[in-house]
Amino acid sequence: MGFKEELLVFPHAKIKYNEPMKNHTSLGVGGDCDYYAEVCTLYGLNCLFMLAKENGVTCKVIGNGTNLLVSDNGFCGLIINVSKINDVFFKRDCVRAMAGASLEKLIRFTVENGLSGIESLSGIPASVGGAVVMNAGAFGHNISDCIETVETLKDGKLKVYDKQDCRFGYRKSRFLGKDEVVVSATFKFKERERSAISCGVESFAEIRRTIQPSGRSCGSVFKNPKGFSAGQLIERAGLKGLSVGGAKISEKHGNFIITSGRATAMDVFNLITTIKEKIKDEFGIELEKEVELVGEF
Ligand SMILES: Cc1cc2nc3c(=O)[nH]c(=O)nc-3n(C[C@H](O)[C@H](O)[C@H](O)COP(=O)(O)OP(=O)(O)OC[C@H]3O[C@@H](n4cnc5c(N)ncnc54)[C@H](O)[C@@H]3O)c2cc1C
Repeated sequence: MGFKEELLVFPHAKIKYNEPMKNHTSLGVGGDCDYYAEVCTLYGLNCLFMLAKENGVTCKVIGNGTNLLVSDNGFCGLIINVSKINDVFFKRDCVRAMAGASLEKLIRFTVENGLSGIESLSGIPASVGGAVVMNAGAFGHNISDCIETVETLKDGKLKVYDKQDCRFGYRKSRFLGKDEVVVSATFKFKERERSAISCGVESFAEIRRTIQPSGRSCGSVFKNPKGFSAGQLIERAGLKGLSVGGAKISEKHGNFIITSGRATAMDVFNLITTIKEKIKDEFGIELEKEVELVGEF
């Protein structure tokens, strides 16, 4: 039996074939992946990985798809979505969140239980897994600030990493681009008045609404170069409002590319290339992408 036939009778996941990735990314662009699986259990996730490996099929686990630019030619292989593995619960004096939980769900849990530490991340549309892998952050705080341990799955084995072994950096961790699935993270928060936490969450969300555009995007397209703001460099270069096809640099925030319904991944990619060239010419600064390219460009 080939991989496709094995998937037809695979009991541990909902499988789709030739699934448009534009349905699973915040940019809303991108071609089909060969196979798309939604797993509900760690056991199912492990079985699926093993099956793909035995058949030489490339796998990529995604969270909420909010930092991905998938090629118009799609992705050759299996995309695994873990959003159904999403419990958030107490583990002794820590909070454990499974990778598929939304960051929003984790933040709600902390507010309800009077736990402070990740208020500034409110409004980041990530999954916990994606946020850990990217070390998501905002307003000077990163998710890693509150992490105790990260649990992963690789080659059928669960492994627990202490925070100091996770190699967290600016929008990166040891798990980025690796064949290792983050299955959960354990957090330690500070106790605080619920009303104060709730107030913090709301005020950070409000700042975000004020400075960031609505519409489909991947958040910041570029990392901030040392000592500079990528958004301000793009604004100073006069690029705000520039568009290619259905992709446009936001008038509100230079580091955001907004896509319309007719945008293609190539439109976004071409806009990224133009920005990089212009910033290099104008300021001699090499911008580094924060958004991840998936598939061939
Ligand atoms: C409107 C908007 C605002 C944003 N604001 C911010 C912000 O303020 N700060 C910030 O840091 N980011 C921001 N982002 C970007 C994005 O939300 C983050 O990068 C986030 O961490 C990505 O999470 P995700 O679940 O969507 O991951 P995805 O985009 O699905 O994946 C990102 C990477 O993580 C990998 N991955 C995901 N889950 C797992 C897992 N369980 N195991 C192994 N690998 C995995 C994927 O393979 C991929 O390499 C914003 C995005 C949008 C659309």
